[in-house]
Amino acid sequence: MIDKAKTIIGSWFIDGKKLPEWKKDRMDACLSCVYNSKNDGAKKVLNRVYENILGAHCLKCGCVIDNKTSVETEQCPIGVWLAQKPLGTSELDIDLAEGGVEFGWDKLRMRYIANYGEINYNSNSDFKVKIKDEDIGNIRISVSCGCVSFDQTGKEITIRYDTAIKGNINKKDLIIDFMKDKVKRQTVIEIKGLVK
Ligand code: SF4
Repeated sequence: MIDKAKTIIGSWFIDGKKLPEWKKDRMDACLSCVYNSKNDGAKKVLNRVYENILGAHCLKCGCVIDNKTSVETEQCPIGVWLAQKPLGTSELDIDLAEGGVEFGWDKLRMRYIANYGEINYNSNSDFKVKIKDEDIGNIRISVSCGCVSFDQTGKEITIRYDTAIKGNINKKDLIIDFMKDKVKRQTVIEIKGLVK
C-alpha cells in the first residue's frame, strides 16, 4: 500500500506539465493490454469497486494506470514497457552493419531489438552491428543464454543465434556494459524471431 501511495505521489510531480512522449506510449500500450482492468469484462467485485473509485488499474501489480505510467522509474510488471531511467541503462548509438535482421531501438522497452523474423533451421544467423559512439570505453559484452554467441573486434560485434534450436526465440539478450562520462552504463540488444 505504501508503494502504491509513493507511485501516486510520484505522478503528481509532472502534473501541469506537457505530457512526455514516453507517458503517452505507455498509456497506449496499457490501453490494449489484457491486464488493464477496463479490458477484463469478468473482473472481481473488488476490482470493479477499485476501478470505480480510482480508475483503470493494472491487474498484475494493482497500480492505477494513469499514475503508474507517469512515474519515470516505474515499469510494467510483465516488461511491456520499462523504467525510463533504470540504473545504468542507456542508449548507445549502434547501427546494423551486415545481416538479415530487422534492427532498431525500442523506445518503450529501452533496448535494441534484432528480429530475424523467420529463419531456417541450421542456417547461418550471423549479423554484425557497429557501435558508433566515439567517447566510450571499457566495453564488456555478455549474453543471457548459451544459444547466443558473439565475436567482438573493437566496436564491431558479430552476433549469432543457435539455429539448431527450433521454435520461438524469446528474450535472448546480448548485454553491452561500457563507461561513458565516467559512469558505468549498459545497453541491451534483444534477439527475437522464429527458427523453422
Ligand atoms: S502495466 Fe503492463 S501489465 Fe499492467 S496494464 Fe500496463 S501493459 Fe498491462
